[in-house]
Amino acid sequence: MKGIKKSQLSNFLQQVSAKYSLYVPAQVDGVTRFQKYSSEREPFLTANTQLSPKELFFPQTEQLYCYETHKQEVKVEELAASSEPQVLFGVRPCDMQAIGVLDDVFLGKGYEDVYYRAKRANTLIIALACSQAEATCFCDSMGVDPAFAPQADLMMYETEDGYLIEALSDQGKDFLQEFSSALEELRSEKPQAPACELKAETDGLVEKLQKMFEHSVWAELSRKCINCGTCTYLCPTCHCFDIESKTRGGKEVKFRCWDSCMYKEYTLMAGGHNPRPTKKERVRQRFLHKLQYMPERYGKWGCVGCGRCIDKCPVNLDITKVIRELREVEA
Ligand code: SF4
Ligand code: SF4
Repeated sequence: MKGIKKSQLSNFLQQVSAKYSLYVPAQVDGVTRFQKYSSEREPFLTANTQLSPKELFFPQTEQLYCYETHKQEVKVEELAASSEPQVLFGVRPCDMQAIGVLDDVFLGKGYEDVYYRAKRANTLIIALACSQAEATCFCDSMGVDPAFAPQADLMMYETEDGYLIEALSDQGKDFLQEFSSALEELRSEKPQAPACELKAETDGLVEKLQKMFEHSVWAELSRKCINCGTCTYLCPTCHCFDIESKTRGGKEVKFRCWDSCMYKEYTLMAGGHNPRPTKKERVRQRFLHKLQYMPERYGKWGCVGCGRCIDKCPVNLDITKVIRELREVEA
């Protein structure tokens, strides 16, 4: 099978970055996230990144359009929803599944978000199979194969001496052709898929949750949550945003920025009413959205088992323990 020798990886990345905007997982200022490649930046490939690649399609803050008003006249200036061709290198299977969830939300059901589409349509994704699972990973309980990402354009497998690479889409085949001179025949076999030690039992969960909206368990589960929103900001599938405007150089600029269902203001209405007034309703919303509403609407979980929220929640509100408790209580 063709591949890239480890000793040739930086050469390959330099060739790709000469033609495309290339993003690789890297550690910068103590945080691992996808960064624009440069030859001084060593790719971080030993584990998944702390921040997911969702910000490359759905940035934390994004300008949408500008407008000016003159008496009764409103002049709208559309900001181009375009993007240069980009390549994402080293996306893990859980994050690839999460990009599939974002595709459903931003491009599915007859509604297309032009800003998301411009970036997504111009992106080629090279996924990297995991060769070991972290203690907080439970992707194989959420329908993800940690060693394969069918939604990617290319799939890479790390071996002792290199990275085997295979095309999964036509764009992937063209890409391999384009960089064929950087590839060589590697003798190693694809590694075995790792098994996650952390598990979540999800059989029958959607049907059970459909009967649990008013259950007293939500008050108990939400007791220790401090509504900081860390879980939603780190989650690769969370996609709620707020739209605001600011005056810049005499123009009003409309922009959107990430928001979180864990915040009280998220559902606060202009008249003062709040349909989710306490953390019980907000925590319930977070879990029902991922474990009931998303499967009902899109036929897939809104959680891909990446474990980021487990790792970083300051009060240790662990989604796998929540799932266990939801299964144990009487509906
Ligand atoms: S990270 Fe933990 S404490 Fe913060 S909002 Fe999420 S569940 Fe609550
Ligand atoms: S809910 Fe937690 S474990 Fe699931 S995808 Fe989001 S961050 Fe990852």
